[in-house]
Amino acid sequence: MERERLEFDVVIVGAGPAGLAASIRLKQLAAETGREFEVCVVDKAAALGAHSLSGAVIDPRALQELLPDFRHRGCPIEEENLQDAVFYLTADRAWRLPWIPPFLHSGGAFVASLCRFCAWLGSIAEEMGVNLFPGFAAVETLGDDSGRRVVGVRTGDKGVDKQGRRKGNFEPGVDLLAKVTVFAEGPRGSLLREAAKRLGLFEGRMPQAFETAVKEVIELPEDSPWLGSPEAVIHTFGFPLGLRTKGGGFLYRMAERRVSLGLVVGLDYTDPMFEPYEEFLRFKRHPLVARRIAGGRVLQQGAKTLPVGGWYSMPRLFADGALVVGDSACTLNARRLKGVHTAMKSGMLAAETIAEALAAGATGPAALEGYRRRLEESWLGEELRESRNFSQALSRPPASRVFHLGAQWLSGGRGLVDPMPIHEDCAALKPRSFREPAPVGDLDGTLYLDKLTGVYLSGTRHEEDQPCHLHIPRPDWCTTRCWEEYRSPCTRFCPGQVYEMKRQPDGRPQLKLNPSNCLHCKTCEIKDPLRNVLWNCPEGGGGPNWTIL
Ligand code: SF4
Repeated sequence: MERERLEFDVVIVGAGPAGLAASIRLKQLAAETGREFEVCVVDKAAALGAHSLSGAVIDPRALQELLPDFRHRGCPIEEENLQDAVFYLTADRAWRLPWIPPFLHSGGAFVASLCRFCAWLGSIAEEMGVNLFPGFAAVETLGDDSGRRVVGVRTGDKGVDKQGRRKGNFEPGVDLLAKVTVFAEGPRGSLLREAAKRLGLFEGRMPQAFETAVKEVIELPEDSPWLGSPEAVIHTFGFPLGLRTKGGGFLYRMAERRVSLGLVVGLDYTDPMFEPYEEFLRFKRHPLVARRIAGGRVLQQGAKTLPVGGWYSMPRLFADGALVVGDSACTLNARRLKGVHTAMKSGMLAAETIAEALAAGATGPAALEGYRRRLEESWLGEELRESRNFSQALSRPPASRVFHLGAQWLSGGRGLVDPMPIHEDCAALKPRSFREPAPVGDLDGTLYLDKLTGVYLSGTRHEEDQPCHLHIPRPDWCTTRCWEEYRSPCTRFCPGQVYEMKRQPDGRPQLKLNPSNCLHCKTCEIKDPLRNVLWNCPEGGGGPNWTIL
């Protein structure tokens, strides 16, 4: 069966805020200059927005620049005119901070479901003539003969069985050829991982740093007292993570009696027995949270990683024929706990660079390099420079953290050490440090869920008879080194119960994989202490089917 080839000016991989903002901006620039740009956006999710997950409190700065009339165009705003509250939690008490640092204020921002927001942005892109291909996973970057120039991407074959044989419904992937390819895959993109190795995009940069989040949308009862309270945005720190593990909780009120609730955990935690999902359950049981969600029911659950390394972890943002935007480019502002506006702005700046390059008929590195300069000179560059050592400071012991954060604030981000070094998250676990996990209490299947019920409520589906998308290069290590030194932490850090360690009749451990539960969060590839997991895109259209997260 012949592989189809389609040609575009620009191919964007990923229909998140960065990729969609880039596509809209490209179409705007085409209209302004009387040119025609053929733009294609390809995304592994079956529907637009179905793999997008964030808190999300959105700073509208980039949106206002991109679509000044966004309110009149049906932007799905859940709640605005937000009042913030920040609490420090101990196991059974909550202290409200009398003062909130200005960078954490949500005034002017709005709460949204990122799924709905991306579906809405996608509808605008489509109206403007962008070719949207949801349900197609880009699995390979195409290069020219030299291997140095990116000339497009190949989407994955469909209809291949577990052994790699063609089934009756086999369809070969499509080659999407482009003058410029934009990597907008989100955190730890599998396409960028391979392309970056070849093109040296992360050479000389600080390691990537990530946090992982479990999030739910809960429907509250009509008489919930929180519905009438002025604070719509609540952030917490302290319990259940304590002060040694970075991260914290959030509750954002949404429309229609719903609340978005989640726990974010720094993936540089050191305890191999630590389980982010259990900590999320503990967070929900804290009196401050439990009171607000009492009588509610979980509508949807999901999980995702966030790139928090920031300025010094950003890859080289351009290559011959390619640019990197959004979470793939580490544009999230960890200090402000916001990443949608920064991702969108990076996409818009990339679009402006591409439009100029296409007009000049040159899309090599010299023409695309301007994206980095544009980013540095924009408000995005300013935001990212101000927070350039923030996440790194949070990884320091609690006593010194305060001094680092204070000094950074007073010095516009420089602080006491600049750049402040960080280590790869996978290197943080302490071997042979085992403890029995504490119980998390009863799970009622309505408000307090086990992992599998959460997977069910995420709408996750994959074609069962396909090659496993989780590649474990050294499976023997799972039952030897990893079990002996870390007691198989994948069985705990994975929120989808994809990894299970079973006992064989002779008592030896054996790893069982349930790849169809995968929530596409990428935690396993990032946190595995032996770097023994590679997450690849499963067949296009598989994965979560989030609609309100
Ligand atoms: Fe996340 Fe990996 Fe588990 Fe999938 S298998 S849910 S990517 S940790």
